Amino acid sequence: MPEAKLIACHECDLLQRETPLPRGGVVRCARCGAELYRSHPQSLDRTLACTLGAVALFVIANAFPIVGLNIQGQPTEATLFGTVQALYDTDMRLVAGLAFVTTLLMPTLELAAMCYLLLPLKFGRVPHQLAFVFRLLQAVQPWGMVEVFMLGIIVALVKLAHIATVIPGIAMWSFGGLMLLFAAMAASFDPRVLWAAHDDKIS
Ligand SMILES: [Zn+2]
Repeated sequence: MPEAKLIACHECDLLQRETPLPRGGVVRCARCGAELYRSHPQSLDRTLACTLGAVALFVIANAFPIVGLNIQGQPTEATLFGTVQALYDTDMRLVAGLAFVTTLLMPTLELAAMCYLLLPLKFGRVPHQLAFVFRLLQAVQPWGMVEVFMLGIIVALVKLAHIATVIPGIAMWSFGGLMLLFAAMAASFDPRVLWAAHDDKIS
């Protein structure tokens, strides 16, 4: 029988033996009660499903206008990339850079890294450079701020509604869905399952 792995509590550093989990169970530290790990049934499949859904919504969110405005009979539309470009052209380069990094670059990297890790494992293969891509994913995740962006859009639209007719575009609904899917991805993704699948495949 293989020896149980050791795990250190991230709160108080107590070293404990890992224990098998029932479905939906949670393992807590024996000394301080901090949550050590919990069961995520079908973690990789659920995360992959959310990731693929998020990829589809992300493409739609960037291909279509976020909002249409009708100012004194003059219709105008704005896509996310068009907005970043307009900010850059009007010398608001820092804001343009921040918007580009947090709403375009980082979510793209996060989705690409997730697909790179999960798709091969789904088909029974171990991706090359798994550890490097996993570290990249962890570095990128805090910088994706789709939810902050959504909040900004809602505030801006409420303000704009006083001076123009605001028509929410397909991309805005897509960003709303994307926000939920990113949260679902984070909730269902269990790195322990990823490493266990990796160890199974290479042993
Ligand atoms: Zn503890």
